[in-house]
Amino acid sequence: MSDSYAVIGRPISHTKSPMIHGLFAQASGQALEYGAIEGVLDDFENQVLRFRRDGGLGMNITAPFKVRAFELADRRSERAQLARAANALKFEEGRIFAENFDGIGLLRDIEDNLAEPLRNRRVLLLGAGGAVRGALLPFLQAGPREVVIANRDMAKALTLRNELDHPRLRISRYEELEGQAFDIVVNATSASLTGELPPLPAGVLGEASLAYELAYGKGLTPFLRMAREQGVARLADGVGMLVEQAAEAFAWWRGVRPETRAVIDRLSIPLE
Ligand code: NDP
Repeated sequence: MSDSYAVIGRPISHTKSPMIHGLFAQASGQALEYGAIEGVLDDFENQVLRFRRDGGLGMNITAPFKVRAFELADRRSERAQLARAANALKFEEGRIFAENFDGIGLLRDIEDNLAEPLRNRRVLLLGAGGAVRGALLPFLQAGPREVVIANRDMAKALTLRNELDHPRLRISRYEELEGQAFDIVVNATSASLTGELPPLPAGVLGEASLAYELAYGKGLTPFLRMAREQGVARLADGVGMLVEQAAEAFAWWRGVRPETRAVIDRLSIPLE
C-alpha cells in the first residue's frame, strides 16, 4: 500500500488539492495516494482519527474545520498558534502535528512568483479573518515598512494587533485609508465570494504595484476590477497561494520540495 494523505472539508467537491498533490508526486517521483473526504460536522474529529488509524500519514484541512483541526492536534507550530487554525496535519510517532501554511504560501507567491518583495514596502491587508491571521507572521518576518490591516469589524482587528503587538503592524478603519498610498494591497476578505467589494475609499490602490485577490477561479473580481481601473500594474488571484501552501505541506510530509510553476500555470484561469 502506498503512503496515504487526504484533504477534508465541507463541501469538498470543488477541491483542487488531490490534483495538485498528484502532480507534485508525479513530478518528484514520490509514491503516494491523496484523496478527498467530505467532512461531517458532528464527526470531524473521528474522521481524522479514523484516517490516521487506517494508516494515513497527513491531511490538509479546509473550511470549516481549520480551527477544530488545530484544537485536535497535540503539537502546534508558531504559525498555527497565531492563526489559531491548522490547514495541514502530520501523523508521526503517535502524535498529531498542526501547521498553517496559508500565510507562507501567500508570501511565496507574492515574493517568488510575482517578484514583489515585501522588504521596506507598505502593505495593506483587507480583512481580519483566518486568512489574515495565517498571513501576519510570515508577512511581518519579511521586513515590510508597515503592514496595515483594515477590517469592518474593528474589534477583530484590534484583537489581532494586541495578540501580535509588532511595531510595524497597524490597524485602520476603511474610511481612514482615504489619501493613503500602499505598494502592495491584498484582498483577504471573503467579499469576492459573493461578488462584493470591501468599502475602500477611492484612489487607495492608485500607487500599488500589485493587487492580490485571495479568492481564485473567479476571474476579475470587483476588487481586481477596481485595481485595474486605478492603474495597478499587476493583478493576481489566489491560485498561486493555493499551490504554494500545498508545496509547503508536501515538503513537510515528504522531505522534498516540489516545483510549483507548471502546476500554477495549469490551474490558472485568465483574469478577464
Ligand atoms: P473568514 O470568514 O475568516 O474572514 C472573512 C473576512 O472577510 C472578515 O474579515 C470579514 O470582515 C471580511 N468580509 C466579508 N465580507 C466582506 C465585505 N463585503 N466587505 C468587507 N469585508 C468583508 O475568511 P478567511 O479569512 O478564511 O478567507 C478569506 C478569503 O480568502 C476567502 O475568499 C477565501 O476563499 C480565501 N482563501 C484563499 C486561500 C487560497 O489558498 N487562495 C486560502 C484561504 C482562504 P468582518 O470581520 O468585518 O465581518
